[in-house]
Amino acid sequence: MKVTIVGTGYVGLVTGVILASAGHFVYCVGRNKEKLQKINAGTSPFFEPGLEKLLRIVLKKGLLKAVSDIQNAVSQSEVIIIAVGTPTLNDAIDLSQIEIVSKQIGEALRQSNSYHVVVVKSTVVPGATEKIALPILEKSSGKKVGKDIGLSMNPEFLREGQAVSDALHPDRIVIGSHDEKSSKTLLKLYKEFVCLKVVTNIKTAEMTKYTANSLLATMISFSNEIARICEDTGGIDVIDVWRGVHLDSRLNPIIKEKRVEPGFLKYLFSGCGYGGSCFPKDTKALVSYAQKAGIEAQLLQSVVKINSSQPLRMIAHLKKALKNLERKKIAVLGLAFKPETDDTRESPAIPIIKTLLSEGAVVRVYDPKVKHLVDSNIDKSLVTFSKNVQDAVINSDAVLIVTAWDEYKKLTPEFFWKKMKNPVVIDGRRIYNKDKFLKAGILYRGIGYG
Ligand code: NAD
Repeated sequence: MKVTIVGTGYVGLVTGVILASAGHFVYCVGRNKEKLQKINAGTSPFFEPGLEKLLRIVLKKGLLKAVSDIQNAVSQSEVIIIAVGTPTLNDAIDLSQIEIVSKQIGEALRQSNSYHVVVVKSTVVPGATEKIALPILEKSSGKKVGKDIGLSMNPEFLREGQAVSDALHPDRIVIGSHDEKSSKTLLKLYKEFVCLKVVTNIKTAEMTKYTANSLLATMISFSNEIARICEDTGGIDVIDVWRGVHLDSRLNPIIKEKRVEPGFLKYLFSGCGYGGSCFPKDTKALVSYAQKAGIEAQLLQSVVKINSSQPLRMIAHLKKALKNLERKKIAVLGLAFKPETDDTRESPAIPIIKTLLSEGAVVRVYDPKVKHLVDSNIDKSLVTFSKNVQDAVINSDAVLIVTAWDEYKKLTPEFFWKKMKNPVVIDGRRIYNKDKFLKAGILYRGIGYG
């Protein structure tokens, strides 16, 4: 099938590469010519494990082309996927990119005599596809949805850092369709992908995505609330609490006499907060959507509130250890919102660095994949980017672990003693063996251990 994907970000490009690897021909439509040239040359504009390798394979087979001409791409494609951003504006969802692209697609379809299905893959609040995209498509194309063109909402569940394997081997595909012909077209598109396919209406598909993300965000904020209680009670390490909780066989089933560790449990663990382009904005969007529907989403409001203050627990730990942060040299290890990505959107590192700077600390940062800070309102001239972990840590007064990169997990108490005078380590991801660090004389604190 011929497919157009509008938006060449994390979701758009990964989906394009995956669909091309399944044998479809894919146009990836973007606006930035330099970025499009990079993609056509086999270079990913962002870091995602395995993406460039697969991109180069599909380019070699002539199955993917990055273009800026949306008109030409859309008119040739049976399936047109919208994968543009749906950011937060005043704590609610901003659908302006969806509106612009729906209009462009509609205009491109005006002259076409063949059948096309437009698919919203971006995360949108229930009702948005039918209330916003549908009328714009009909008006700009002069065609009727459900008769001349199809419409679907197909949420994406990939996780950054493992997006390629998630998209190649999805655990489920949710297809919300306006009509039967649209869902049949999408089932054909995903024929090669072996997993359960849930065919439903558009609003249900939209709500499924929000529910999935809100559930995971809720588990994280719940874990972080438990961590706060443990920290302030004293004498309890939340790590030990989670060990005891996780071993409940309903969470951690014993199958054929072996414990099976569900991936789900990774979210039932305490840390310095969730970030990224999804959980923060999707939980806020759902709260605001519920409010407009007359429902006060009290639980989700708390999830958002706990998360927004969670990164600052790191500063509270630091202040307990160092008292005053004025002119103290602080090494921040990790800028990405999680390991295996270079995405810093809503990363806990940002409020942490901002607060350190406002308290007069001297900040050095190191992240294996992030080499500059974008869109963070941080005065970049005040932050030193170290070229490796040694340079970041050397002579610092304290180290903050913000991202659980494998590289940091390997650091030993001996390493910290070698590089620092009186090592203070604040572990925001609980990657170190507390007992080993304490025994070595390190002033060790962490989320869930005061
Ligand atoms: P992104 O910001 O990385 O990419 C969006 C892209 O769309 C950008 O490159 C932008 O330039 C492009 N774009 C915007 N308007 C355009 C236009 N008129 N023409 C061409 N390109 C245009 O965002 P993302 O992380 O890929 O997310 C996209 C959507 O998917 C969002 O709704 C997000 O919530 C959802 N989602 C994201 C993830 C994730 O892990 N990143 C996972 C599931 C769902």
